[in-house]
Amino acid sequence: MNPAVEFGRRLRVLAFHALLLCAAGCGGTDENDPDTLPKREKPARNVILLIGDGMGPAQLTLARIAGPGVHEGLALEKTPFVGLVKTYPAGTMLVTDSAAAATAFACARKTTNGTLGESPDGTDYENLTEWCRKRKKSVGLVTTASVTHATPAAFAVHCPDRNKEADVAQEYLGAGVDILFGGGLQYFPETRQAAFREAGYGFVRSRQELLGAERAPLIGLFADRFMDFEIDRPREVQPSLEEMAMKAIQILSRDEDGFFLMIEGGRIDMACHGHDAATMVRDVVAFDLAVQYAVAFAERDGNTLVLVTADHSTGGLAIGEQVSVDRLRGRTASAERMRELTVRGNRPLPDVVREHAGFEVTDRMLAQIEALKAVGDPKYSLHNAIADVLSRAAGVTFIPLDVQATHLVTKGHDGCDVPLFAWGPRAADFTGVLDNTEVGARIRRAMEAGK
Ligand SMILES: [Zn+2]
Repeated sequence: MNPAVEFGRRLRVLAFHALLLCAAGCGGTDENDPDTLPKREKPARNVILLIGDGMGPAQLTLARIAGPGVHEGLALEKTPFVGLVKTYPAGTMLVTDSAAAATAFACARKTTNGTLGESPDGTDYENLTEWCRKRKKSVGLVTTASVTHATPAAFAVHCPDRNKEADVAQEYLGAGVDILFGGGLQYFPETRQAAFREAGYGFVRSRQELLGAERAPLIGLFADRFMDFEIDRPREVQPSLEEMAMKAIQILSRDEDGFFLMIEGGRIDMACHGHDAATMVRDVVAFDLAVQYAVAFAERDGNTLVLVTADHSTGGLAIGEQVSVDRLRGRTASAERMRELTVRGNRPLPDVVREHAGFEVTDRMLAQIEALKAVGDPKYSLHNAIADVLSRAAGVTFIPLDVQATHLVTKGHDGCDVPLFAWGPRAADFTGVLDNTEVGARIRRAMEAGK
């Protein structure tokens, strides 16, 4: 090539690159480098992290189509920023449980399944509650599972075994959490409650008491173990997730130093473990109302970062071509409630299923339930069988029960990445494909930036 022509070509390429650079970031910053963000964007005084336990991409799609509908869509999908989260735990497993996943968000470190807030060999990690206390920020943990369950626990305690829920309850004493709402009353016997009262905590036990509460530190325990699935919730006794979110935000937002609030839709995962698609949909929709409330607060407040994600996906949910919105919407009780009505209420199974399925139940479906009953863990088999057959009849399937029951492939979780949605200051820092520990690290960075 003629040297003059070659030189001209190089000049044009250089000019083009310079143009690209200018378009990419005025002031010479790189859009993709989070370290440059503090120079451009104010920190988030408050962070609200909403976690749908077991809420993978298929759960969100099914909740959209059988909830508000494909045209209306979920509130969470109106977000300006979306990312994808990798969820692998430490160790040899590639599919996480809630303990390792919540530890990744809370401590920005990996651990093994079953472990809360510490390394696989038992060294404490600094969790977000400890981190916030050092900065005088308030902390709230809200869930529809028990307050001692893995997801909330990882944000405030250190425990090698997530199943030791009584130990977790004890560890909350002195952990410095200002708001703790959910189920789990059985882990707070009167003597333990007295110790918490001594430390300044108030207790509320019903929706009415919650709505009337004004001051922190406050513990709300609305069920012995888990709060009910949204579809079964006794509305006068148990508050909705949105109502718990509302009260938590109302109290925590008085702290001028800011707050961190984790809100968990804790039973989405359990509905999917039980193969109950219609029940899962109601819990995701209830979770989405809490998201909507948090985002509305953040928009008024202007200093709040709202993040919505999941710890993992559950159940291998597949939406078939014959999916029936009417059949999913028609259901009036969870399969767990149907089991209770049959076993404890002593009512014939066909009557109960016909009454609550929300569509015409055939003899063939009842025979399928009978056949599937034998497959699962005896403790769960009846509700798993009811849910599995009703979900299939609505065009939705899960990991086959025989596979799940024998743990041949999984106990129920599946390993796909989970979505991440972000609003507010520093939200752009939560896009791309991120490791779950990176989400935890960036939450800290978002609150610290510029300080
Ligand atoms: Zn699970």
